[in-house]
Amino acid sequence: MNTVYIDQSKKKYSKSQFIKYFEAKVMRTIRKYDMLGKDKIIVAISGGKDSLTTAHILNKILSKQGRILEAILIDEGIEGYRKPTIEDAKRFCKKESIKLHIISTKKEFKFGVDEALKKLRINPCTICGTMRRYLLNKYARKLKADKIATGHNLDDEAQTIMMNQYKGNIQLSAKLGPVTGAIENKKFIKRIKPLYFVTEKEVTIYTTLKNFGVSYNECPNSKDNFRSLVRDQLNELENRYPGVKSGIINSFLEQLPSLRNAPKNKIVECKSCREPSSRQVCSMCELLEKYRK
Ligand code: ZN
Repeated sequence: MNTVYIDQSKKKYSKSQFIKYFEAKVMRTIRKYDMLGKDKIIVAISGGKDSLTTAHILNKILSKQGRILEAILIDEGIEGYRKPTIEDAKRFCKKESIKLHIISTKKEFKFGVDEALKKLRINPCTICGTMRRYLLNKYARKLKADKIATGHNLDDEAQTIMMNQYKGNIQLSAKLGPVTGAIENKKFIKRIKPLYFVTEKEVTIYTTLKNFGVSYNECPNSKDNFRSLVRDQLNELENRYPGVKSGIINSFLEQLPSLRNAPKNKIVECKSCREPSSRQVCSMCELLEKYRK
């Protein structure tokens, strides 16, 4: 047997066994959290391995039921990085018959991450994340979506949980979990994460075996930031003590109900743009004001 993967219990997998194992794990997550129902699903695509894997598996399920999957890609204006991933996403969506909507921050706000970085002393991932979250929600709502599926995997989630812990922001973790929506609001589209229990390594193997033809380029802004440090640290821990990442996720899921029950801000409409926000003025409008100053 040509072994492509060995799991924690030392069980060996061939190519076809691994694909079956991986897809079954994702399906279990989708069923356990009733992620799809009869809802209209929009998948957030970046062109990278996680989002294409999410799109592929969702499309497989939905097309069997005669349902159509649409995708949104946010072009956040990072020179040299985004262009090839847009081409990857276009090629992939065409092959899978997924309707792709590309939303550009430059069209929407007249600037992208690159321009913002020249003017503002703000962490690039904060600028990018703010724009992406805002536009994803706004356009998914315009497309009448009930849920947005994202490609977050177990590693991403474990990193975010630990980053919030390290920074003393545990309350922010109430927004995490396989299905988000700690606070219900009709303008705020729920997020689902079908890859919640699969690791980064497993996704990489799956995309390679399935020949999705994705580039594994990292965003130029992500080098040496806080997240990449936490990621390296968790990878080292996992190598020496297999299972620590799942340990973080499982402990977190036990705590999540109480985190969500804690007194929290209400979702209100942003005074300036009317989009949902936890504050009077949303973080996107705040960013716009700083940029235009
Ligand atoms: Zn606003």
